[in-house]
Amino acid sequence: MITEKRTQFLADELEQLRRQGLFRPLRILESAQDTEVIVDGKRVLNLSSNNYLGLTTHPRLKAAMIEATEKWGAGSGAVRTIAGTMTVHEDLERRLAEFKHTEASLVLQSGFTANLGVLQSLVKEGDVIISDELNHASIIDGIRLSKAERSIFKHRDMDDLERHLEMHREKRVKLVVTDGVFSMDGDIAPLPAIVERAERFGALVMVDDAHASGVLGKNGRGSVNHFGLDGRVDLQMGTLSKAIGVLGGYVAGPQPVRDFLIHRARPFLFSTSHPPGVAAACIAAIDVLLAEPERIDRLWKNTARFKEGLKRMGFETGASETPITPVIVGKGAVAMDFSDRLFKLGVFAQGIGFPTVAEGRARIRTIVTSVHTDAQLDRALEAFAKAGKELGVIA
Ligand SMILES: *Cc1c(COP(=O)(O)O)cnc(C)c1O
Repeated sequence: MITEKRTQFLADELEQLRRQGLFRPLRILESAQDTEVIVDGKRVLNLSSNNYLGLTTHPRLKAAMIEATEKWGAGSGAVRTIAGTMTVHEDLERRLAEFKHTEASLVLQSGFTANLGVLQSLVKEGDVIISDELNHASIIDGIRLSKAERSIFKHRDMDDLERHLEMHREKRVKLVVTDGVFSMDGDIAPLPAIVERAERFGALVMVDDAHASGVLGKNGRGSVNHFGLDGRVDLQMGTLSKAIGVLGGYVAGPQPVRDFLIHRARPFLFSTSHPPGVAAACIAAIDVLLAEPERIDRLWKNTARFKEGLKRMGFETGASETPITPVIVGKGAVAMDFSDRLFKLGVFAQGIGFPTVAEGRARIRTIVTSVHTDAQLDRALEAFAKAGKELGVIA
């Protein structure tokens, strides 16, 4: 009773969300992460995962995870800096550095903690972090934790970036940070222009390739490789939780960056390392990226087919250039209603509203994967047509 009273303020806020049609219960998967999933007892076509290449269920990843677990155990038992570094962790970091064409890399528990760890520790008071306004929440939080000044430039606006660089010309360290692929709109950062300006002003560049690794560049090396900028971007952050299909985050870059983060990045110092099975499965995923490049070709073919279908029906898909395709509907409540209707029609695609995206830009966020079949994509398009007409989103 007493706790109920003390948490009444939360119940009140939740009630408000319910009234606005924005309360979202968790969707529970009763099957593996695949092109079709069982959600709340219903079999539906899945357009909601970040499982770009279908690696979550790849036999090589599963076998590697089982084998490493048998050999090394279920957990690592310590933080990396005490006794939680096993050979499999170091092997993964060597493989990532090689894959990314960098000197070194460091793996953290997730992409989120990688951004927190880097941004909070790398720069300090008197420095500046110059950040695109649409960067991911983990970048925003990392900047909040840093003692450096923050300077936010307009989304992909290179004149504005230049103005910020000019304004902070005298700072000891200037760090420009951008998503490689923006997670809600699917547009790509203008990296060549960013790098050119950063070089001119002597600024560091950090790219968050959470949605570009496994998607852009040769064998999925990411946005830096995609633009032919190998060696010219100081820090390439990535996640092992999306296209790689497992869990984790990393930073690839020069050896001193790795060595410094080992001593200063708080999530690295104060949170336990990955279970060995996770690291082993990530290594297997890199093997698959190198051995099966046709997965990436298929991802882009499926993306083109799905996007063209949506556009033909008159949906607004924004500035997307990647497999992340938003279907923009306007109001948050409409997006949630749209998502519910799609679900009834057998398609699982989540509505996303404020504050994740700007007010009035609520959307259904879709991601097709390399393992969706043409028949599945056509079925998804039919459901979008039906729900879109019912709601008056398309004519
Ligand atoms: C998902 C995401 C992250 C966080 O990665 P996790 O491994 O899921 O913690 C960081 N940055 C961007 C741009 C993302 O989309």
